[in-house]
Amino acid sequence: MHRVEEDNLLSEAGKRVEMAVPNTPENLEKCICRSCPTYPRGGDPILYCARGKSEREIVKVTCTCPGCPVWHENDLSGLYFCKEGAAP
Ligand code: SF4
Ligand code: SF4
Repeated sequence: MHRVEEDNLLSEAGKRVEMAVPNTPENLEKCICRSCPTYPRGGDPILYCARGKSEREIVKVTCTCPGCPVWHENDLSGLYFCKEGAAP
């Protein structure tokens, strides 16, 4: 199954494909939200670009997503996924 998904991705090589950010342990490891001034603390579950917005109140300070490898690897352009929801 996983192999088939990889083949599908490869067959799309060269084309700009809108894909949701994968909610994987690897991306969770890379997410830098916990060091962001806007992060609501308290163990909130980060990786918002994949998992969707926080259930907590978010007070925007700045968004450090452009410094994150997941942001670049998925060709994202949005910010404040913790408040606005997952990347399309
Ligand atoms: S782009 Fe932002 S929300 Fe997504 S993994 Fe990186 S820091 Fe976390
Ligand atoms: S999504 Fe952006 S603003 Fe929200 S915690 Fe992560 S880096 Fe900060």
